[in-house]
Amino acid sequence: MAVIPVELGGRSYDVHVGRGLLERAVADGLLPSPGGGLCLVADGNALAHHGERLLHVLKEAGAAVAVYEVHGGEAAKSWSELERLTDWLLAQGVERGDRVLAMGGGVVGDLTGFACAILKRGTGFVQLPTTLLAQVDSSVGGKTAINTAAGKNLVGAFHQPSLVLADLDTLATLPERELRAGYAEVLKYGVLGDAEFFDWLCANADAVLSLVPDAIEHAVATSIAAKARIVAEDERETSGRRALLNLGHTFGHALEAATGFSEGLLHGEAVALGMVLAARYSARRDDCSLDDAERVTRAVSQAGLPTEISALGLECDGAALVDHMRHDKKMQGGTLPFVLLRTIGAAFLAKDVALEDVALFLDEQLQTH
Ligand code: NAD
Repeated sequence: MAVIPVELGGRSYDVHVGRGLLERAVADGLLPSPGGGLCLVADGNALAHHGERLLHVLKEAGAAVAVYEVHGGEAAKSWSELERLTDWLLAQGVERGDRVLAMGGGVVGDLTGFACAILKRGTGFVQLPTTLLAQVDSSVGGKTAINTAAGKNLVGAFHQPSLVLADLDTLATLPERELRAGYAEVLKYGVLGDAEFFDWLCANADAVLSLVPDAIEHAVATSIAAKARIVAEDERETSGRRALLNLGHTFGHALEAATGFSEGLLHGEAVALGMVLAARYSARRDDCSLDDAERVTRAVSQAGLPTEISALGLECDGAALVDHMRHDKKMQGGTLPFVLLRTIGAAFLAKDVALEDVALFLDEQLQTH
């Protein structure tokens, strides 16, 4: 088991990574001593597979647990679901000092985190991430949000959890496609800042994706430690350091938008493709070598993740994809910073990228097989 601190002064917290954490959480004193009532907001699938383990120990400890189930995937990150959830939490009598439990993937974490950010001007919450993506990325760092008609994650707040328990046993029931999508975010940490971890992943991808205990723990703990370091340096994405975590996301978001944020392309799959595109675009600008771009492509492909946008069957051109990018939150005075590569393990923020050039590059990629 690993414990990774996220050092944020008065908002610091620990991320625990290991097996059987849900069962041990109360005995190990990790969860609030549940003398009275507790609210659990849970993804329907996570609850069906793992809820009993958690509810059992909480009830044994004398807690009356009220459960709110979230269904519908990405669509649940909406104004209407936010209203329903906050009304429900208020009806349960949640107080500022309480800690609401959020169990599930990035959808439940983002929705519950945002509800807690605005509930009574800030209520505590604990992340119990049950997808690989949520364990290595969305549960750590305090970004919370919902989607609106104008786009994804456009309404939200920074609100740090008070604890994160990443129980690796929950990953056993995750559909294989979701596991691979989460792996894209793991690989991202190697590509952007840790060449040694990248090499280790290339050698151990099968073990990680088969959930071999030592391998999955090393992959998750190393990823979280990388994110914790970056978040501690730049909590609110003001210095440019945290922006490096967006490697693959600018291209990826455009692809998600072009596919209607549908099941056709999962967020992690879009990040995988986006990472390949960022590496190829870096090589096209001579920022990194073609060899590095090919190594990134091979690592993505090795994990069974998509590498070619021409295979998506998009009915749009590069200019249309770039139009999606123009709505990006990171757009500043008409320019969009791109996370590009100097080499594997050394990403940087490029502020001199002309979107017209990106459109031409994407046109080339759309025609490549
Ligand atoms: P998700 O929450 O939709 O979960 C994916 C699927 O897995 C769902 O169908 C869910 O029901 C199911 N599931 C969850 N746990 C399970 C388990 N243990 N066993 C079986 N099924 C399980 O998706 P996600 O990929 O976890 O998260 C994507 C979301 O995260 C997006 O909305 C994205 O914007 C957000 N995100 C946020 C941040 C952040 O910093 N806040 C970072 C990255 C992504």
